[in-house]
Formats: sequence, C-alpha cells, structure tokens
Amino acid sequence: MSHIHNFSAGPCILPQQVLEQASQAVRSWDNQGLSLVEMSHRSPAFVDTMEECRALTKELLGLPDRFEILYLQGGASLAFLTAAMNLLPEGGKAAYADTGTWSAKAIKEAKHAGHVDVVTSSKEQNYNHIPEVGHVDPDHAFLHITTNNTIFGTQYAQMPECNVPLVADMSSDILSRSFDPEPFSLIYGGVQKNMGPAGAVMYAIDRERLGAAGRSLPSYLDLEVHLGKDSMFNTPPVFSVYTTMLTLRWLKEKGGVDVIQRENEAKSSLLYAEVDRNPLFEGHAERGSRSHMNATFRLKDEAHAEAFDMAWKAAKINGLKGHRSVGGYRASMYNALPLESVQVLVDVMAAFERSHG
Ligand SMILES: *Cc1c(COP(=O)(O)O)cnc(C)c1O
Repeated sequence: MSHIHNFSAGPCILPQQVLEQASQAVRSWDNQGLSLVEMSHRSPAFVDTMEECRALTKELLGLPDRFEILYLQGGASLAFLTAAMNLLPEGGKAAYADTGTWSAKAIKEAKHAGHVDVVTSSKEQNYNHIPEVGHVDPDHAFLHITTNNTIFGTQYAQMPECNVPLVADMSSDILSRSFDPEPFSLIYGGVQKNMGPAGAVMYAIDRERLGAAGRSLPSYLDLEVHLGKDSMFNTPPVFSVYTTMLTLRWLKEKGGVDVIQRENEAKSSLLYAEVDRNPLFEGHAERGSRSHMNATFRLKDEAHAEAFDMAWKAAKINGLKGHRSVGGYRASMYNALPLESVQVLVDVMAAFERSHG
C-alpha cells in the first residue's frame, strides 16, 4: 500500500484496487498465462473489454442513445483538431470560449479546420475566472468550452446556456459531477486526468452529427470511420482502455457520478475553507469559478516557499507544485483521491500557520 498523498495534476491518482487488478492482468490475464499487453486486441477477451468500457462510459455519464463512445489514441491534443474537422463544415465557423491554456490550444488547432471566433476570454486576468458567454451568432456550428481548466483551477459552475450545440473538452472533470447532456454534440477527454492511465482519449459523439460537416477526412481523423470499426480501426491502447474500464467498474460500484460528486465537493470545500481561513495563503481563481478538481493557491509571502515545500513533502504529499503559468500550488483532487489526503494537506497548512504566521 502506498502512503503517498498524490495531488498530481495528471497522469492522475487511480484507485488502489484498480492498480492491483491492472498489474495482475499485465502479468497474466485471468490467470491464463498470457499478459493483457501481449495478446491480440481482436481476441474475444479484449473485444469484450472495449465494449464494456464504451457501455460503462455511456451509462455513468448518463448519455442518451444518440451518443456513441470511442477510445482512441492521440490524446485530447489530437481531439482539438478531430473535433473541429468532424463538426465544422468547409467554409463554416465555430465559436470558442478561451478560458485557459488548453482552450487556447484547442483554438489553435481548430483554425486548421476553419474559421474560429473567440467569443469570450479571461486571458487578461490570467484566466482567474470563467467569463460569461452571452449570445452566440447562430451561424456558428458549435460553441467549444473547456469545462475545467486544469492549470488555472477554474471550472464552469453551470454549463453555459447557448443557442448553438456545445462541444466540450472535459479532460480534467469528466465523471466528477453530473450534467445535462442535452445541449452537447461532442464531449472528449484524455483519460489520464480522471479515468485511467495515459494513452487513450475518450470521445462521446452524437451519431447524427457525424458526416454533417460534409468533409472528406483522412481516416484516422474521421470519427465515422472509427465508429464503423467499433473503436478498433487500428490497434487500440489496450492497457489504457483495460485500466480505464476497471476504473469505471470501481466508480459504478461506489454508486456512480452522484456519489463521487458529493465526495469531490466535500474534498474541495475542506481545502478552500483552509485557503480562505489561513492568513498565509490566497487562492488564484475567483470564488464563483473555483474548480472542484484543481485548487490553485499561493503563499502571500513567497519568502516562506522553501519552508512550506519542505513541510508538505515531509507529509508525503506529491505533486503540489503549481504550473509555471500560475505559480504557487495546485492541489488536484481527482475522483480517486481520498478525503483523508486533503485533510493531511489542510493539517500541514494549519501547522505552517502556527510555525510561520
Ligand atoms: C491535460 C489536458 C489536455 C491535454 O491532454 P492530452 O491527452 O495530453 O493531449 C487537454 N485539455 C485539458 C483540459 C487537459 O487538462
């Protein structure tokens, strides 16, 4: 058993039980002597894994029938392009909300597919809040949002109300809370933030919207091609898909997204209460935009940084260093992080106030 309190922003902490089951399958699948990573992805065992992974994703996200699930390679970074290529008609335009580094990258890639209008941005305030979207010209094929901004620690408290379909990068808050899927055409996310080990990206795509862009696409970028092959157009990232499936089983056994949402809210409330109470610290994100997944905060007096770093490292906390574009600290509290780990961090912060306040 590991005693590390893992606040890593990604790849993320996974449930201990999932790591044990996955390592067993790497040694010998079902005790049959063959490793998960050395058998055919066309074998019935792996085909069943892929199907279970796709079905559980749809079930746990509460998606209606019109959605199809794919697990592909290329990460969310390729999905930035794939999303636009599949949903933006030639000569059309798309609206993007610029709420952080990952949004900016999504915008950059979408420009390879067509015209992009950035309809709202919080860049001038170093992305410390989620800006209002307002009315979007209905000529736009969709509005793209990043539901949780991993680096800056902001998150949409509610999905924006919008007059065009929504496309979302949910890499870092997928399956952490429930939401109404009705306005969405496409949801995607790299699995390594909240679902599994790195190597796969999940797409939940509205079947009826596929092909609507009327483009001829290279095979790998064409989600219709992947759908026609049941997410097995080429060799899937077998370890990532299998382990993601185990995490989905774990989440279902726990009671699903509603249960984990309450746990996630308890964790983030505990930490933000300490950030607000403790006179040595201040948060980065505005309160109304705070993320339940990634809390960003800093010391008011940087001179204390070395001593604080020693304190949390001594408490076996890992991955607390903030991203260079924000500085300070970032506590990533993904689904598998126990409340006890947040309590350890809060205790370290409180003790630090007593010794340095
Ligand atoms: C990490 C992250 C990405 C990039 O994911 P890759 O799978 O590494 O390409 C994109 N969007 C968000 C919100 C992220 O947190």
